Amino acid sequence: MEWSGGLAERPGRGRRVLVVGGGIAGLGAAQRLRAHPAFSQLRVLEATARAGGRIRSERGFGGVLELGAHWIHGPSRGNPVFELAAEHRLLREKDLSEENQRMETGGHVGLPSVTYASSGVSVSRELVVETASLFHSLIDQAREFVRGAAAPAPSVGEYVRGALRALAAGWTDREDARRLRLALMHNFLNVECCVSGTHSMDLVALAPFGEYTVLPGLDCTFPGGYQGLTNHIMASLPEDMIIFNKPVKTIHWNGSFQEAASPGETFPVLVECEDGGCFPAHHVIVTVPLGFLKEHVDTFFEPPLPTEKADAIRKLGFGTNNKIFLEFEEPFWEPGCQHIQVVWEDMSPLEDVASQLQDVWFKKLIGFWVLPSFESVHVLCGFIAGLESEFMETLTDEEVLLSLTQVLRRVTGNARLPAPRSVLRSRWHSAPYTRGSYSYVAVGSTGEDIDRLARPLPEDGAEAQLQILFAGEATHRTFYSTTHGALLSGWREADRLIALQDPQAQLPGPQL
Ligand SMILES: Cc1cc2nc3c(=O)[nH]c(=O)nc-3n(C[C@H](O)[C@H](O)[C@H](O)COP(=O)(O)OP(=O)(O)OC[C@H]3O[C@@H](n4cnc5c(N)ncnc54)[C@H](O)[C@@H]3O)c2cc1C
Repeated sequence: MEWSGGLAERPGRGRRVLVVGGGIAGLGAAQRLRAHPAFSQLRVLEATARAGGRIRSERGFGGVLELGAHWIHGPSRGNPVFELAAEHRLLREKDLSEENQRMETGGHVGLPSVTYASSGVSVSRELVVETASLFHSLIDQAREFVRGAAAPAPSVGEYVRGALRALAAGWTDREDARRLRLALMHNFLNVECCVSGTHSMDLVALAPFGEYTVLPGLDCTFPGGYQGLTNHIMASLPEDMIIFNKPVKTIHWNGSFQEAASPGETFPVLVECEDGGCFPAHHVIVTVPLGFLKEHVDTFFEPPLPTEKADAIRKLGFGTNNKIFLEFEEPFWEPGCQHIQVVWEDMSPLEDVASQLQDVWFKKLIGFWVLPSFESVHVLCGFIAGLESEFMETLTDEEVLLSLTQVLRRVTGNARLPAPRSVLRSRWHSAPYTRGSYSYVAVGSTGEDIDRLARPLPEDGAEAQLQILFAGEATHRTFYSTTHGALLSGWREADRLIALQDPQAQLPGPQL
């Protein structure tokens, strides 16, 4: 076994810290620690060949495609991702305006420009606006149970469906109009599945739902790619600080490890990599995704995690949301169209239909966003969550392209609609070091489980303190699932270590 892992040649004694994972949480933690003289021996171990993790922008179809994070949610002062992006001039002028920053969206996805139904007709704007407003009010009500009133159902989905069933009993529409209303509701629930990164809103716990905090500001994108942000953080770190293609296999803790290059020194933690390399350290900040932790919880830590923490990992939710990009030679949508909603008239939140995934997976796709500023091509970005999304990952590009061409021909009522020229998609569930998209508070768990996950180890050790610290989006109680939650969690753990070493240190903000 290689014990020194090459760290010992770094000058200066100080505390040796390893960060596992080079996403925005890990990079943020490394940047913060590097600014403090006590942490001269610092490395980031990243399993893959690139930094950024679930922030992943790729050049394609004549523009930038975001395979992971898409928007800054709540871009306003106080959101550290917005502030950093503004500082590095990565945003458009209009997205920096005070007016945009003041917008209160309630966290709801904006209205579609056009809504197509499966019978090949477009749905009236009036009905879409009315149904969206009803749906958003039910979601707002679902958030209120965090204030103490007893939650009348275990999940957000059951709550919304219960309320809807009661309302629908009073509808006096004709049968087809009533079906269309319910089909729209079904689509809005699927949108919410994409937002929460879950298969079904029946899996998302109702009582803690309102703990997730929505910041003001109209969601915005990065014209040059989200990864510009992580690239800036990377550029501030020494080149050899991140070790790529270095997947960690097991973190040994509560030990007394030594290395030949540092005689007389003992380290409480030893990080063992899949390639056999071993890195002794005083502290390790783990930022791997919850999906990875769920899959490896029994083997990733030695000794195993305390029962409460392992249970929190098992109970919290982590689901899949993927994107499917379609490239067209000519747009079939109107100029100015930003968002196309696709509604299946045979689907209703009040009925369960048992079907095979291969026959219906595409009905989970909520619709498409029109990507702006592409050169000579026209690109749509579809979103799909849940088991259907995971099934989509197992199909070939040709199969996905064929199914979506059929969907688009059907909903536009144009059997001759030219097929997209090509398709490109994310596959976050199959990614071995992610295993899904982002976290949510699942039925059977609470925000307390997020705090349990975030608590450093050993939990009771007054002497050997802060051996393993936990960061990453799933460890932020109010901003889980977001890039700003991830960044703040990385800063939080870096600050925790700095405060241990240097109680007088002035820690920079923001501390949301
Ligand atoms: C499709 C999609 C859309 C999204 N849209 C948005 C959005 O619009 N707005 C928003 O705010 N957020 C969005 N998110 C969520 C956001 O991308 C994440 O919350 C955030 O990037 C997570 O950062 P992180 O550092 O916690 O984790 P990650 O970015 O996942 O970083 C963890 C790193 O750990 C590495 N790793 C894993 N296992 C090991 C191991 N054993 N050894 C070493 N390294 C390991 C991984 O390779 C990865 O690089 C989206 C995510 C997805 C997937």
